[in-house]
Amino acid sequence: MSVEIQQIHFSYGKIKALNGIDIRLPQGAIGLLGPNGAGKSTLLRILLGFLVPDSGEGSVLGYDIRSQQAMIRRYVGYMPEDDCFIPGMDAVSFTSYMGELSGMPRQEAMKRSHEVLYYVGLEESRYRMLETYSAGMRQRLKLAQSIVHDPKLIFLDEPTSGLDPQGRKEILELIMDISSKKDIQVLISSHILPDIEQTCSYVVILNKGEMAAEGQISELKQVQYSLYELKIKGEEQAFLDRLASMDSQVEQTEDKLLKVYLSPGTDPQDIFKIAVEEKVQIRHFVKSQTSLEDLFAKVVGVD
Ligand code: ATP
Repeated sequence: MSVEIQQIHFSYGKIKALNGIDIRLPQGAIGLLGPNGAGKSTLLRILLGFLVPDSGEGSVLGYDIRSQQAMIRRYVGYMPEDDCFIPGMDAVSFTSYMGELSGMPRQEAMKRSHEVLYYVGLEESRYRMLETYSAGMRQRLKLAQSIVHDPKLIFLDEPTSGLDPQGRKEILELIMDISSKKDIQVLISSHILPDIEQTCSYVVILNKGEMAAEGQISELKQVQYSLYELKIKGEEQAFLDRLASMDSQVEQTEDKLLKVYLSPGTDPQDIFKIAVEEKVQIRHFVKSQTSLEDLFAKVVGVD
């Protein structure tokens, strides 16, 4: 197991950020999801050894999160969400400095710095001052510094944040290449669910400091719900109330499409029975392809 934690609790003063988190991550690319304030950044900081949990135990790559932080930083890379650049530096000096901070000798860090900048496509701009970099270049540089010291695992916090579609595509392709060809395990925290769906097979979903779901994305979708889309004609409120009372969740889109998430074991025929009883006419009824967005809405709850 690359990451294994048990009953992690953490509070910022009176604010409880993590409330008894248990995680055992398998190999492969992992997505970390949750609404704002769910506790994702706090969890990453604990796994990196920047914060010490109030209670609970855990290890990253076999190193204890409480006592072996230096080893964790040697073998784990981190791409923070915010920019972390030092003004007046170029990409080569910055990346090799980050390598040195992770414990590499200076010459080796310099050599690796050229290699990783080439890998992320910044070879020609490697001597330019970082202040002149575009948003896309800054994200690629942050990715480069996260792998400069040959880590076994990298944590990427919102790696596509602030990017246009082309920049986003390029970063995602690099992440998939790192994950599949470089023998580096990737854990990505992101608000952009299609990014996670494209790059990861396994997901951890946090909500209000607690685990909302964890597992293979394909399996979680099947276990959690089946999704039907329908359009109705008639008085809808009573119908919606009845659907909500049968352990399902209903979301209405702007174009009046109803998305009904049925819990496992619920018979979709019940929707028709309720429609007859509530005198509404079903005009459109399809079992829908489910996305990670649908799973997220189901386990975190739609407002
Ligand atoms: P986001 O996606 O918005 O970054 P998150 O899932 O990363 O959210 P955290 O940043 O871990 O969530 O925050 C979890 C909770 O802890 C929130 O209620 C947040 O307001 C609180 N919190 C985070 N950092 C601090 C801090 N330095 N001091 C006080 N409270 C904090």
